[in-house]
Amino acid sequence: MVTKETISEIYNKPLLALITDARVIHQTNFPVDDIELCHLVSVKTGGCPEDCKYCSQSIYNKSPIKLNPLLPVSEIEEAVTKAKSHGVKRICLGAAYRTPNSSAIDKISQYIQIIKKHGLESCATLGSLNMEQAEQLKSAGLDYYNHNIDTSPEFYPEVITTRTFNDRIDTISNVANVGMKVCCGGIMGLGESRDDRVSFIHALYQLPAIPDSIPINMLVKVDGAKLNNTTPFDKNELVRMIATVRILFPKTRIRLSAGRNELSKLEQSLLFLSGANSIFFGDKLLTVENNEANSDLEMIKNLV
Ligand code: SF4
Repeated sequence: MVTKETISEIYNKPLLALITDARVIHQTNFPVDDIELCHLVSVKTGGCPEDCKYCSQSIYNKSPIKLNPLLPVSEIEEAVTKAKSHGVKRICLGAAYRTPNSSAIDKISQYIQIIKKHGLESCATLGSLNMEQAEQLKSAGLDYYNHNIDTSPEFYPEVITTRTFNDRIDTISNVANVGMKVCCGGIMGLGESRDDRVSFIHALYQLPAIPDSIPINMLVKVDGAKLNNTTPFDKNELVRMIATVRILFPKTRIRLSAGRNELSKLEQSLLFLSGANSIFFGDKLLTVENNEANSDLEMIKNLV
């Protein structure tokens, strides 16, 4: 049983001791040259009825984004082929839904089949799922389902009010119950405290299934979103987060996600040293800018 107190002790260790502990665990469980590239495709953009205060795609925010219905299958084929040529191993399909309807699931099933045809891992993030929806996606060949808890249970109501923390856990439980792998992480910089960060990690630890991947995002402040004037947080906290998650989830893929373009290559190297072993690759992450693809390829080539 891992308590919040235990997690807090790990999180608050002197930084060098924390990184060293995380590094030992990382090296025991993953090859040192293993940094996975994952590509995220926004297959349906904007018009989401949830009120996540950080998100440009929420109808409650006034962000100037271009709305897009589900993409034609040919565009998915193109995106998958291009990503594969750069060494991407996993494609994540992102759609701004509260929950996908049956025609959306049918179309997304076609996307999944394209990904599988190319021999890549498939992941999707489509909002809440009941057991039947999870089963349909699993039958279509979906390997992973992403549903983030975002932050601590205590801070969560400050960020989202249209869907509860427990609703999120229900979806994760449905995904795990049909045998799909769980991808679940959160966002730093929403205005949460250090205690919230510890509590977030504790909540990850208590999920119905150990996540196979944990994306760690940093808030990207977008025009029109309600949460776009929080105080910038100390990047040391990001190192502490990654290292603590690595220690507690030795076999889980830890992915540097949104906000990575605020980090220098040297800062990213420190995060890889602390236990991160995956990035989102591609010039765009849903509606926000990501690191330039060639620059990432150069960084990876230098690191491994
Ligand atoms: S984060 Fe996801 S669920 Fe929340 S508003 Fe944006 S698209 Fe909708």
